[in-house]
Amino acid sequence: MLAVAVTAVVVAVQLLRPPGPRPAFQLPVACGETWQLGTYPGHDDFDVDLFPTEGQAWGRPVLASYAGEVTAAGVNGSLGGRTPDDPQGPRGRGGGYWVKIDHGGRWETQYLHLLEPPMVEEGDRVETGQQLGRVGSTGDSGAPHLHFEQRRGMRKVETWFDGQPSGITTDDREYTVTRTSGNCGYSGPVE
Ligand SMILES: [Zn+2]
Repeated sequence: MLAVAVTAVVVAVQLLRPPGPRPAFQLPVACGETWQLGTYPGHDDFDVDLFPTEGQAWGRPVLASYAGEVTAAGVNGSLGGRTPDDPQGPRGRGGGYWVKIDHGGRWETQYLHLLEPPMVEEGDRVETGQQLGRVGSTGDSGAPHLHFEQRRGMRKVETWFDGQPSGITTDDREYTVTRTSGNCGYSGPVE
């Protein structure tokens, strides 16, 4: 009983702790690539869908937006059966293959609908620009793309990239903007 009470107090204190400053998030895609960032009615406020402006989305590298610790890496909902060979296969539920990263200061990012099991595991420490997986269409996804979120204190907030806000704050209407990735600092392998 005491243990439960202590746990509840610890959780409450963590929830009350003010968030730290916004990390220097970068686009979660390869350095120098230009992608369309967008949303649509029913998507949920602040959520961003990314599509490349050139070439196929399938299999493109998904990179950590900022350094942190992987707190989820696996299947969210159900995978469904949408693959490059069967893009209109059965639609899954939720995020499909996904990754969540804790950046400290109560900041988190999430990466959904990956093609294959993530390249990282829960508990891994990742650097900005380290590859997490590849773009796919698992889960509740209409076409291959990357669904991306930034959260502060467990609440979704406007996404920022390279020191600038994306302008995607509401799902009241369809809205898109293009940005070029400045996620250029990581020197490890990207497939
Ligand atoms: Zn989305």
